[in-house]
Amino acid sequence: MDLSRTLTGFGAALLATALLANPATGAPGDTPSTRDFGNGPERNEIAAVDAAAALSARTLLAEEPASAWSLKSRNGYPRQNTLPVWPDNPEDRSIKLGLIPYHDIAPKLNALQRASDRVSAEIVGKSAGGRDLYLVTVTAPERAGETARQDRWRELIEENPAAAKRDRALRAGYKTPVWINANIHGNEWEGTDGALRVIERLATATDAATKGFLERSRVYVTVTNNPDGRIAGTRANSAGFDINRDHATGSQPESRAVRDVVIGTQPFVMLDEHGYTGTTLIEPATPPHGQNYEYDLYIKHALPNALGMESAIQRLGYPETAAADIPFRDYVPGDWDDWPPIFTPMYAIYHGAIGHTVEIPLRVNNADYTNLPVEELRRRARINTDVAAATIEAALSYADTNRVTLLADQIEQFRRGWAGEASPRIPDGFVPGFGPEDRYSTTFPRAYLIPAGTPAAARLVDHLIANDVRVVRARHDFTVNGNRYRDGTYIVDMHQPKRGLANVLLEAGRDISDLVPQMYDISGWSHGLLWGAGVDASLRTLPRVHTSPVTRAAPTGSVDAPRGRDLSLSLRDGNDVRAVNELLTRGIKLRRTDAGAVVVPADARSEATALAKTLGVRFSAAPRGVKGEVFDQPVIAAAVSADELFALKEMGFPVQTVSTAVLNAGFDLSTVDTLIVSSGLSYTALNATARAAVDAFLARGGGVLTRGATGAAFNAAAKVLPATAVAGRGDANGVVTVTNEGPIVGAGSPPHAFVYSPLWFTGTGFTVEQRYGADPLVAGHWLPAGTGTNGPAQAAGQAAVVSGVTPGGGNAVLFGTEPLFRAHPKGLYAGYARALFWTAG
Ligand SMILES: [Zn+2]
Repeated sequence: MDLSRTLTGFGAALLATALLANPATGAPGDTPSTRDFGNGPERNEIAAVDAAAALSARTLLAEEPASAWSLKSRNGYPRQNTLPVWPDNPEDRSIKLGLIPYHDIAPKLNALQRASDRVSAEIVGKSAGGRDLYLVTVTAPERAGETARQDRWRELIEENPAAAKRDRALRAGYKTPVWINANIHGNEWEGTDGALRVIERLATATDAATKGFLERSRVYVTVTNNPDGRIAGTRANSAGFDINRDHATGSQPESRAVRDVVIGTQPFVMLDEHGYTGTTLIEPATPPHGQNYEYDLYIKHALPNALGMESAIQRLGYPETAAADIPFRDYVPGDWDDWPPIFTPMYAIYHGAIGHTVEIPLRVNNADYTNLPVEELRRRARINTDVAAATIEAALSYADTNRVTLLADQIEQFRRGWAGEASPRIPDGFVPGFGPEDRYSTTFPRAYLIPAGTPAAARLVDHLIANDVRVVRARHDFTVNGNRYRDGTYIVDMHQPKRGLANVLLEAGRDISDLVPQMYDISGWSHGLLWGAGVDASLRTLPRVHTSPVTRAAPTGSVDAPRGRDLSLSLRDGNDVRAVNELLTRGIKLRRTDAGAVVVPADARSEATALAKTLGVRFSAAPRGVKGEVFDQPVIAAAVSADELFALKEMGFPVQTVSTAVLNAGFDLSTVDTLIVSSGLSYTALNATARAAVDAFLARGGGVLTRGATGAAFNAAAKVLPATAVAGRGDANGVVTVTNEGPIVGAGSPPHAFVYSPLWFTGTGFTVEQRYGADPLVAGHWLPAGTGTNGPAQAAGQAAVVSGVTPGGGNAVLFGTEPLFRAHPKGLYAGYARALFWTAG
């Protein structure tokens, strides 16, 4: 590790974020070792707009689409498809840079397919904005029988690695799979152009070396993983999501498409082409390394492959490409880590790939895009394209040269999984620079148990299956570790090829605060603790019970009430909320008896039955004679971040998006029930008219729901509740324990929450809904500030979520946690929704 590359400026910026007055996470600069935070200041400062594209992202919570795309086919190669051509778009931001606009990609791929029998192009999914996602496969032509044999071998490697290891024909004839993912960040363009250049060379070269390479290899390229962003010049897709933070959650169609590609193609090596870090950056990464990897099998290839890519960019001969930054070699721990499975290459490692992020060097986006002369932008873009192409060519060369050991090591990864073997201890010096700071490992439990019957359990099981995690279902009741489980309980036997992925999704995670001074992005997540399903780990024992494999979770919905009886629905899951909103949208008169209990009239039974089927929700018989108060669909004005807007739509809430600017332009609050404030709305920045409108809204008893620093600042300035927000360190994030006390959020929420830049509330005159636990941080990274303040010890026992009545008589709820963060903590959705219904009166 080169300790000279310290991060004093960056660390100092993070510490400053402890102040509410400055909620921004450290602003990254152009120096190589800083970076764009996915959860950048924009998340709290720029309110999402309700674009048509975001509307189209509305999906049913219960229905994670099964793999839409599969490599399997009766056909050989090529598999040529005439791709639909998109209309010319002169606004495409690629054009100014001299790069290929999205609308020219399909024609180019169509022409390459016509010109070469080595090129196949197909559509593997649609972006959030509805655009086609292309996969190109380049390989020597195959007859159908040969392709079927490749399919069998690929399956054998995963299903029966011991047999694959013995199979000499496989060893000699299995085509080396390499996957290149380009342009996942839409305004990091040139991966696409570099990849197209490589495709074109492979398609047309006549030399024996290329022909031999294509006989031995399959090159898969997702040409642009983010067409919405490529066209608009944005990092995010048109739903406002950073796709390269979404791989564990799979909330976006772009991340689900590449999930299916990596599972289907099972690459030995993959590159995710990004920009722009000043110097070309090539992973492997710094510690902390994901503790669920078979890291020895990864680093033994990742480091030499990176060195090969570095040599390749040096050979380009530009002063700007004289050296690469290889974080594993050059950076300090925590500077550029591979801890969370939210990034494409880190996610791909769990599927058997040697995954690398590559950052091409020269910035052409954001302010530079606007301010630099076109000639300079195009000069940079040409060099960047050369760098992208050079890294891809070098990785192809590495994969081909090392195909025997790459195959053996992918087999070994899956073999260890099936065998349930401990990952080996990696000795110091295993590769140059490997030291104690690089040593991460875990003890895998023997099994996970997921009791069935709730939409949350079904959602989690479907998600696991979509991620190629094997799940079985008990055929009888059984007992394990002294606990009784019902027939139908889901079991994840951790003796399986992708146990690392199963564990990284289901485990609680780890508090890594003491290990590194800071982290690149999130340090905690947990489908086990945050998705609302019960998940038990059995450390040593696999239950002794007959099981059946599961390809899709069993239906969970039901209407358990006699005909003619009113129905009751408890708001315990986002799908319950969705069902309520669907019923309200249809004009059905619902009543509630408390914040979480909804009564559906008997005459809406057929609608309830249909929703039970599609959403998996359970209606029971309402107590006889129960009254409750009638409520309507809330009219919501929301100054929220894009991920929150997405989650609100997932739950079926109609939302009018607002911001400081929208209110200043005269937005009419007179019909609004609740104002949500978490992003891009500052009371003090409102003009006199808008401020008067907000004051009038509050005075007539309008409801308020806030989240985070922007929300807390609004609460203070607009005098909503007499609660004072105290900020934890700005970069703190992870899974925390909470105790549930209050009647709205507190009644029925899980005992864990997610935080990012956590807050807590002090004062009197409100109700504490949730408190942080006594030792709150379960997993993640949360250090106190240098002065010993703002840490988890200070948050312990403090109010994390509060509710109360405003001076105008409205209801308000303030969140110091992150119940909708990146659409991940799905078990927290219902608590947020209960708050929202309650504030709407
Ligand atoms: Zn990027």
